[in-house]
Parts: sequence; structure tokens; C-alpha cells
Amino acid sequence: MRNYILFLLCLCVLPIGNLCAQDPLTFDVGDFQVSVLSDGGQNAGTELLKGASPGALKKYLPEGTFPLQIQAFLLRTPNQKILVDAGVGTNLVKNLKYFEVGDQDINIILLTHMHGDHIGGLLRDGKKAFPNAELYLSKAEYDYWTGEKERGVDAQKVLTAYKDKLHIFTPSELGKAATPIIPGIKAVAAYGHTPGHTAFLLESGKAQLLLWGDVAHAMPIQMPLPEVTLSFDSNPKQAVQTRKSILEYVAKNKIRVAGAHIPFPAIGHIAVGKEGYDFIPTCACEGY
Ligand SMILES: [Zn+2]
Repeated sequence: MRNYILFLLCLCVLPIGNLCAQDPLTFDVGDFQVSVLSDGGQNAGTELLKGASPGALKKYLPEGTFPLQIQAFLLRTPNQKILVDAGVGTNLVKNLKYFEVGDQDINIILLTHMHGDHIGGLLRDGKKAFPNAELYLSKAEYDYWTGEKERGVDAQKVLTAYKDKLHIFTPSELGKAATPIIPGIKAVAAYGHTPGHTAFLLESGKAQLLLWGDVAHAMPIQMPLPEVTLSFDSNPKQAVQTRKSILEYVAKNKIRVAGAHIPFPAIGHIAVGKEGYDFIPTCACEGY
């Protein structure tokens, strides 16, 4: 219902005659069509958060919860169909069908990291759900999930299923010159939430979009207070450093962001706020 209301709000503010993308879930970023694939979510309790004072919790999350939605993203060019993460898998097939994309059509999968809410859609009946897809993963993330057997049975199943299609890369530091891992997409180190957590910078002409994965989970409080962490950050200190650096960088350079846990429509820009930062959602058809 909330998504539907947001969708209506987006439609309401559209100027008549605006050059629109094809549908309310798709944004043009240069030559890329970026579609948000909503995989559900729920309200999460503040007990998941660390480093927030009782006063801050009351101020920013007065109801004692925050929306924790899950989004994956489909990137389409004339030649490629790319998935950025795969959600838990609940709605993935249905969402791709909406865009007339079949399992066979996905060429590339970029993983921000290997938590279950990002890789759940990659297997079906224990086999790879996307038989033609090349799977891209950072070296630090690969090393983490293959380092100790007790870590992530599901991650290891995914890595085994896609082992002949696996591309391991080393992301660049934010703002440093980087070679695209595939045309138009650079990998940016965003370590902390997991040891190899990666953001992907989409560049096409003058348009840019940073798909930041799990740089933030609790938007209402982590934007004004980026030092607030989540109980399942593997290195909270590093996660805070990453969040602060990325927020500063995208605000300064006016780069739009898309996030796996940013509430729908999950794309927007960051501005310096009265306290910390503000997230301003982008409506479909607004363009870049
Ligand atoms: Zn996540």
C-alpha cells in the first residue's frame, strides 16, 4: 500500500508532457534503464541499531521501528540485462516477468555482498536460477565467505552453482580513478557491513548513479546520524567510515544513489542536512 501511495504521489507531481521512462519503476541513467525490483520487507525494531542515544531514537524513530525494505535492481542496455543483487527471491521472477525478462536473458549479476537478502534469488531448487549469467563478486567478499565452512552455507551453495561463471575483482577506492569491471560500471570498495561489501558506480555520458547496496539500512536515522550502526555490520567502525565517506562524496559531487534498503522508490540524492544528511527520493520520469 505504501509503495502504491508513493507511486501515486510520483505521478501527481509529474509535469504534463515530461519525457518519461516507460513505467513508474524505471529510471534512465544515460543509456542504462534502471528498474527497481521490490522484494518486500517489514518494519524493523530499533533493537537492531547501535550507537543511537535514547533521545535520538525518540527524535528520528518515534514509533520505535524503521522500514527495512529489500530491493534488487535490473539494469538494461540494448545488449545486456544486468541484475544488481537478487533479493531474498520472493518476488524476483514475477518482477523480471513484468519487464519481460526471463531467466535465460540475464547476462550479468553484480553482487554487493552475500547476505541472504541479496543472494536468495540466485538459486532455484539448488541450481542456478540464471543459467547464462556471469557472477561478479569482490575478492574480499569471496575470501570471507569461503574462508570458514560455518560461514554462510547459502553463500557457498551460490558460489558452487556459479563456479564456472565467477568473476572475482578488486574494487577501487571511492573517488579514485578506476577501470570499469564491465562497460559503464565501476566497482567501489564500501567495506564494513561485510568485509568485501561493494558499491557499483554506473556511468553513461554525464549521468551517474551509485548503487550502494547496504551502505544504510535505517534511512530515517542513519542519514542524519551516519555513526549509528546495525547489529549485523561485520565491522561497525569501518561501516561508519564508509557511510560517512560515501555520503560526503555523493552530496558534494551530486551523484544519485540507489540502495537495497532505501524505501521504495529506492533512488534519490543526498544533500547536506541540518544534522548530517537528507535523502531526497527521485520520482520516476524525473530523469538524470
Ligand atoms: Zn541487506
